[in-house]
Amino acid sequence: MHSAFQCGLSRARTANNQYPHGRQRQLHIRSYSLEPKKGPMTVHTIDCQYIDEPKVAAAYLIREGDELAFVETNTAQALPHLLAAIKGQGLTAEAVRYIIITHVHLDHAGGAGSLMAACPNATLLAHPKAAPHAIDPSKLIQSAEQVYGAERFQALYGTLMPVPADRVRVMEDEENLVWGTRTLTFLHTRGHANHHFVIHDSRENGVFTGDAFGVGYPAVQGSGTWLFPSTSPTDFDAKAAIASVRRIVDTGADRVWLTHFGEVTDLATAADQLIDHLRRYGVLVDTADASNLQGQALVDLCAKTINRWFDAEFTSRGLQDNLYACELLTLDRDLNAQGVAFAVQKRRYKRSRV
Ligand SMILES: [Zn+2]
Repeated sequence: MHSAFQCGLSRARTANNQYPHGRQRQLHIRSYSLEPKKGPMTVHTIDCQYIDEPKVAAAYLIREGDELAFVETNTAQALPHLLAAIKGQGLTAEAVRYIIITHVHLDHAGGAGSLMAACPNATLLAHPKAAPHAIDPSKLIQSAEQVYGAERFQALYGTLMPVPADRVRVMEDEENLVWGTRTLTFLHTRGHANHHFVIHDSRENGVFTGDAFGVGYPAVQGSGTWLFPSTSPTDFDAKAAIASVRRIVDTGADRVWLTHFGEVTDLATAADQLIDHLRRYGVLVDTADASNLQGQALVDLCAKTINRWFDAEFTSRGLQDNLYACELLTLDRDLNAQGVAFAVQKRRYKRSRV
């Protein structure tokens, strides 16, 4: 069976260049040059062994000549895996020119300060709203401790090191960075987080999507592509998230690289799944808002609906007896419920101020 998660391998473009119903995929060639592919794949997937599990969170290493760039850093605990990837290229940490973070959620950028300290020539590329948190992570620590609790926070993330301000470059929406044979284009993508961008790589015609194109663990892909949205606190916005999914597809990319986890080439199927679910999450925000429930009762209402969706997916995919898969998705289910409840509270707060 075709797997959508063969990471780090060069392969032919997908045969299906159309959306369902025959609608042509839009190729926005204005900013994305579709250069013919030359040589082996220059993007390498690194398994960060996040929460001590395989294939849950990735970082990516891009090789451009004898220079390197990372996309995502995971946590400080992932540093040995990232440094091993540099060594695997026969290069040293001095060769790292860029470290790019899609957003500052800690499974994406918690280790940015540690990796920057290890790579003396690197510049951190970040969204304008993410950069201040990389420079001063104190608010991140505070809000993550609220979500996870202090003890679990320490176990997951350890110490967050600040990044020196003079080593941080802010990337604006649609800004291009020409690097050797490739152009990296930064696209701001709200919905999962207000400070989130994705990066289009012209050389491989792929997009590093962070959390803006959902989550798709290889462990649950047995019956075909299955991506689901991440609606974790504190910025979830269903409409913006749908627009971001469309924006990614509209680049005409052949592939996306998910942080959770790996390469996906069946973009049309994945986008349909994500948009369908994001619409449901949008309706859930409305329903939960109308319930007038507060606090834990509100979270429980969201969790009940979200768990029903996940259970239906598990059953239809024959995963209901797969304890590993069930366990793996527990945190995502909980965070999604918390994120929806947070969106409801935010909406109510805004309404109360009108
Ligand atoms: Zn995130």
